[in-house]
Amino acid sequence: MMNTPLTLVSLIERAEKYFPKKEIISRTQGGIHRLNYKETGKRTRALSSALEKLGVRKGDKVGTFAWNHHRHLEAYFAIPSMGAVLHTINIRLAEEHLVYIINHAEDKVLLIDIDLLPLIEKIKDKLPTVEAFIVMSDEEKPPESNIEPLHSYEALVSEGDEAYQFSTDIEEEDPAGMCYTSATTGKPKGVVYSHRGIVLHSMALSMADTAAISESDVLMPVVPMFHANAWGMPFVGTWLGSTQVLPGPMMTPKILAELIESYKVTLTAGVPTIWLGLLNELEKGNYNTESVRAVLCGGAAAPKGMIRAFETDHGIPFIHAYGMTETTPLVTLARLKSYQTELPEEDRLEIRSKQGMVVPGLDVKAINENGEIKSDGKEMGELLIRGSWIADEYYNDIRSQDVYRDGWLYTGDVVTIDEEGSIKIVDRTKDLIKSGGEWISSVDLENAIMAHESVFEAAVVSIPHPKWQERPLACVVLKENEQLSKQDIIEFLEPQFAKWWLPDDIMFIEEIPKTSVGKFLKRALREQVNEQLNV
Ligand code: ADP
Repeated sequence: MMNTPLTLVSLIERAEKYFPKKEIISRTQGGIHRLNYKETGKRTRALSSALEKLGVRKGDKVGTFAWNHHRHLEAYFAIPSMGAVLHTINIRLAEEHLVYIINHAEDKVLLIDIDLLPLIEKIKDKLPTVEAFIVMSDEEKPPESNIEPLHSYEALVSEGDEAYQFSTDIEEEDPAGMCYTSATTGKPKGVVYSHRGIVLHSMALSMADTAAISESDVLMPVVPMFHANAWGMPFVGTWLGSTQVLPGPMMTPKILAELIESYKVTLTAGVPTIWLGLLNELEKGNYNTESVRAVLCGGAAAPKGMIRAFETDHGIPFIHAYGMTETTPLVTLARLKSYQTELPEEDRLEIRSKQGMVVPGLDVKAINENGEIKSDGKEMGELLIRGSWIADEYYNDIRSQDVYRDGWLYTGDVVTIDEEGSIKIVDRTKDLIKSGGEWISSVDLENAIMAHESVFEAAVVSIPHPKWQERPLACVVLKENEQLSKQDIIEFLEPQFAKWWLPDDIMFIEEIPKTSVGKFLKRALREQVNEQLNV
């Protein structure tokens, strides 16, 4: 067979050639923008040519610091299609982590949304590798700023070459993108996506038994484009010529509901916190959501009640999926097998609220101290994954060896697998708290609290939260004869962390349960806390 390389160039070229009339609808500060794939192709080529003029060459990293909109989509293709690497930067990271990842990736150029510019202005002097900054807004003139040199995205695109030829010198194994993911403690870890991995992942998303994405879809990724490539939706959507609705910076439930109704969205994707908000909005307003064939939910466990509410109260089909930044990210998806469709409603709901079955193209297994677990839905073990769109290391990071071993990715997620191959996440070994789809390091919080002179020891655990799913709670043991209030501790932490990282509550306790070797026994502590809180 021919060995033609699987690269992103063919995705955008296909959209230009076969779907010139299909549209990208994007909502920015400047209102709604409608561009078809023909225009998008030209703008994408113009952006590549502008980046080349700015000195970007094959293998260089170009960072994006942006919401979900058409300019970000253009960057998604312009950067990899010239052989450079699209580094999507999480806008919610703490300043220290932003500085770290931009330097670690050695970004040469940064594309920044105008409303996010102040965040970069604060750190600009700590970014020695960045040679040019590009501000994304409707204006052709860059705003007043202390950043130098600052270019206007629109000016670059209008001066660029819209007939620019994308690179023909890309191997399918070449890096196309990268994204950093939070570590249990310390600096974020970089995941590099190859062209091949992204193309194969796009195929996986379009299979009838997975998300079945097709040309006729109107896709609305609510999951940010700085989170595992918006779960790959911009790539597959462009390849297949689907209409794309990009909701921009103002993702309130009302705006999402309006976008669904106005543009007849068929498939939308995001974390449970987003869907809880939308559910509330749908209950208040009178929206027409008939077009929606699937709400894809991942990043955290989808509560059963939420699935039921979407489907029963609003007739909106709901699909629960699981993945990680390291896995591009789709790994499992909860769908019924044909012979399960006749089961009683509760049984069906039970199956569909699990994380689901591994998608074709990947292998999974789970292991514990006795080896591979039985598929009996009871025995628990850590989930291991391998396959063509699974990273095999972190970018220039010795921590790779902790996670990538014997050809498998060790996920840190503890699961059961039932007789049907359906996976259920029951615990997490990584000491992280996932609040509204974003990570909080319990270890970093603990260390900070323990640095207080009156604190003997402290452990942070997650507690369930109706909106954010998980929130941090700190358990603190004070030194003898010391006194501190909850407020004292919060005030002590405030200057060190983003506001959304601060514990929701502090519990003063006598002792933190420990293992025989003196490590915090988080599971026991969590049980103790839950008992006390009665949850
Ligand atoms: P993403 O941003 O795509 O969620 P991350 O790498 O930030 O990717 O997070 C991956 C982790 O999130 C998983 O290892 C798991 O702990 C958790 N996770 C993802 N999807 C689910 C899900 N459907 N149910 C429960 N936990 C999930």
